[in-house]
Amino acid sequence: MTNLKHGLTSQRRASPSFALEDHMCKACGGRILRQLTGSGPTPGGNPVYICADCGRGSTAMGPDVLCWCGYRFKNQSLFGYNCLPTSLVKSLMEEGQVEQSEALEREFKSCGIDPRNTLIGIVTGDGYQRVLDKRKDIPGKEQTKKSPD
Ligand SMILES: [Zn+2]
Ligand SMILES: [Zn+2]
Repeated sequence: MTNLKHGLTSQRRASPSFALEDHMCKACGGRILRQLTGSGPTPGGNPVYICADCGRGSTAMGPDVLCWCGYRFKNQSLFGYNCLPTSLVKSLMEEGQVEQSEALEREFKSCGIDPRNTLIGIVTGDGYQRVLDKRKDIPGKEQTKKSPD
């Protein structure tokens, strides 16, 4: 598939019991971890997500209870925020997708994120869509998926 996809996967350094998620804690900006061991306290077997920095935790189907995905302030755009690895800026640049890379960097910065200083950032959903419009195959499009037939 794409270099981007490969880059994201290899960036994850596996630890014995946790995996790094490409999501940022809404409370403190820390990185979300997913517990890998099957010994979580949930009877339903849902994965356990915790913040690496502030230790907030939750059992949920997805990390979005802790992270910025889907969150929006009052009067904000319809789409809310999206967590996104800032390494995408560099990956796009390395692929020669200069325009897209710069567009993505602008979107990060408009959310107060300096892609050079953090691994995970946030962009607004419509800002990310503007970058996607320039390039069709970067990850995260499942945000906009339609209901199955
Ligand atoms: Zn946190
Ligand atoms: Zn997220």
